[in-house]
Amino acid sequence: MSALTLQTHALFDEAPYQHTFTTRVVAVSEQGVALEQTLFYPNGGGQPGDQGHLLLPDGSAVAVLDTQRDPLLRSIIWHQLEETPPALQAGIELQGCLDWQRRYQHMRMHTCLHLLCSIIDAPVTGCSIGIDKGRLDFDLPESTLDKEHITRSLKELVDAELDVRTHELPVSEYSRMLDLCRTRIPAPITQGLVRVIDIPGVDMQPCGGTHVGNTREVGAVICDKIEKKSRHNRRVTLRFA
Ligand SMILES: [Zn+2]
Repeated sequence: MSALTLQTHALFDEAPYQHTFTTRVVAVSEQGVALEQTLFYPNGGGQPGDQGHLLLPDGSAVAVLDTQRDPLLRSIIWHQLEETPPALQAGIELQGCLDWQRRYQHMRMHTCLHLLCSIIDAPVTGCSIGIDKGRLDFDLPESTLDKEHITRSLKELVDAELDVRTHELPVSEYSRMLDLCRTRIPAPITQGLVRVIDIPGVDMQPCGGTHVGNTREVGAVICDKIEKKSRHNRRVTLRFA
């Protein structure tokens, strides 16, 4: 199969709560293994690549250490493996299993960072997500931020049990709503559509990550640190309580 026809169907967009899937290997290279479809989220937008394992037809398991998009052909997702057994070849069918605990923590923290966006009225210039904490960088010249206020405001939004919705908008329509968005991180565009995460009345952002379906799942979160990283950059770090 030529590199140009390679493409990985992104199952994590439509099924963020699914842990396992069956698929076929389309390519094996030094970058890892590419599958016809995958639930493994590739590192991007501040959210780390998923880990887990692949179950081969002979019953053996191979650990997936990281997941990355191809740097040139962005439609291809590579699963980086601990080892590549000889039986792992293009064409074979296998099962993929996510490290769900880790991924779910990323979904909770990622959603929480959307809530943080709604509390701080400034453009977002950076984002990083981990299993127990996450942070956003804001373009903010003065520090008007208060940890207790942020913690309290997050709790109100979590306790409000708000639905988190996903829309696919044509790029033209999206450009019109750009004024509503705070992020300066470029929007992920697939086949002319922009994926927008909408917490009605609270926050609307273009985002390609994985999120929980309701803010109640975020749970208890604390604003841990507010740092001045440069004259125009304030870094706000959250952690699970
Ligand atoms: Zn997001």
